[in-house]
Amino acid sequence: MKQTPPPDTASGVSADAPSGRPRVPLHLQIMAGLLLGAVVGYLLGAWGLRSAAADPAGGSAAARVTSAGLFMVLDLLGDLFLQGLKLIIVPLVTTSIVLAVVNLGRGAGLGRLGGKTLLYYAGTSLCAILIGLVLINAVAPGVGAGGAGLLVDQDLSAFESDQAMVAEKTQGKSVSSFLNVFRAMVPANVLSAASDNGQLLGLIVVALAVGYFLVRLDTDGGRRLISLVQAVYDITLSITECVLKLAPIGIMGLIAATVAQQYATLAPDARFGAFATGIGKFALVAVVALGVHFLVTMPLILLFVARVNPIGHYRAMAPALATAFSTASSSSTLPVTMECVQDRAGVSKKTTGFVLPLGATVNMDGTALYECVAAVFICQCFGVELTLAQQFLVVVTALLTSIGVAGVPSASLVAIVVILEAVQNNLPAGSLPDGVLLVSGMGLLLVFDRPLDMCRTAVNVFSDSVGAVVVAKSEGESPLSDARPPVQG
Ligand code: ASP
Repeated sequence: MKQTPPPDTASGVSADAPSGRPRVPLHLQIMAGLLLGAVVGYLLGAWGLRSAAADPAGGSAAARVTSAGLFMVLDLLGDLFLQGLKLIIVPLVTTSIVLAVVNLGRGAGLGRLGGKTLLYYAGTSLCAILIGLVLINAVAPGVGAGGAGLLVDQDLSAFESDQAMVAEKTQGKSVSSFLNVFRAMVPANVLSAASDNGQLLGLIVVALAVGYFLVRLDTDGGRRLISLVQAVYDITLSITECVLKLAPIGIMGLIAATVAQQYATLAPDARFGAFATGIGKFALVAVVALGVHFLVTMPLILLFVARVNPIGHYRAMAPALATAFSTASSSSTLPVTMECVQDRAGVSKKTTGFVLPLGATVNMDGTALYECVAAVFICQCFGVELTLAQQFLVVVTALLTSIGVAGVPSASLVAIVVILEAVQNNLPAGSLPDGVLLVSGMGLLLVFDRPLDMCRTAVNVFSDSVGAVVVAKSEGESPLSDARPPVQG
């Protein structure tokens, strides 16, 4: 990726637009797209609801057609951007890992880099889970005013449609099928691994193996293959830059469509009325816990471990954060994350290519935190007080399942099913009335699933990028250093 020219930071515009016109920096364009999308989505949602309320038969025909048409256009813009990102993932992940391993050479570099990376992933995920655990226990949003759990003695049949939706989103997956994620680490067929959207672990393992043996293949053919991989990588990066230019419009479309849809979900619903305060407090706990990890833990690591300026890193990562927020998918955001970490934060190709694809798949701090908060909340709702040993089980399961969660929207719902099943299997007899399953309370999570997914995905992506900076620094690089030319925007 090329180094971009310095911006005029005082005016907030880049001074070097070819036509002589001042160019607005990318991160400001993206932020504008995000805000515009939120406003348009809100207006669309409110308009749709108002016209439906004025005419319960479904609103006036003209209003229906116009709002549906606008929604479809915005949705299409968002989808085109998302498809563009997805298109890049497979070639980018495979070529960047192969080249990173080749650049590490024959020495002990791969093991050293791998060890540091995994240590960072495990450490920060554990930290995130503990933040969530402390806050959810302190606030206890699942416990009602009288001290009883929100769902104790409630008729859960009102949530049947939500449970069906959870089952649809998790596709009936539970512990045994979740283990298939780890089985997929060694794919029997590399082409089917590449076509399994969001599940990159198998592809990463194959790319690591190819890189490892390619560097040991001291033949002309091997060297030609390295050149070919490099060429594919360069082409992929050029396409990434084109897609990134469309980010402001794509993000606007994605956010507008999401907000309009979410507006309808949050419309007053008799089923949730009695639980509104509890669900609201739960969402707030999740957001505050994610905020603490994002705004306290991460900058402290940048400051004291990597010894770089956290503000500079937030600024460098702004496009990736906005993309993660609007797509709710860390896999789809990966091309943008790599571009930002390499070009804007100044981490080497070798470290970026190794740490980020792995991170997008196995390092999910926000997801791990959310899984823990959500599982403890559901237990509180059923009046189940978890002992220290049971909370430990939740922490360990959240840590392990977050590794296997795919980087796609709503993926952590499967992991929450796994955690709740593990907890239920370890409850003393009589803790729950006969036939009551903890997973049947998961309908409550759906109200705010999308906005919380957007927040946790941004945290997942940011933690990956901090990991890249930490590892780069430990390898003697100078990311975000003043000695480098300033980043664009
Ligand atoms: N959407 C998240 C991601 O892609 C995964 C999840 O927590 O559901 O990182």
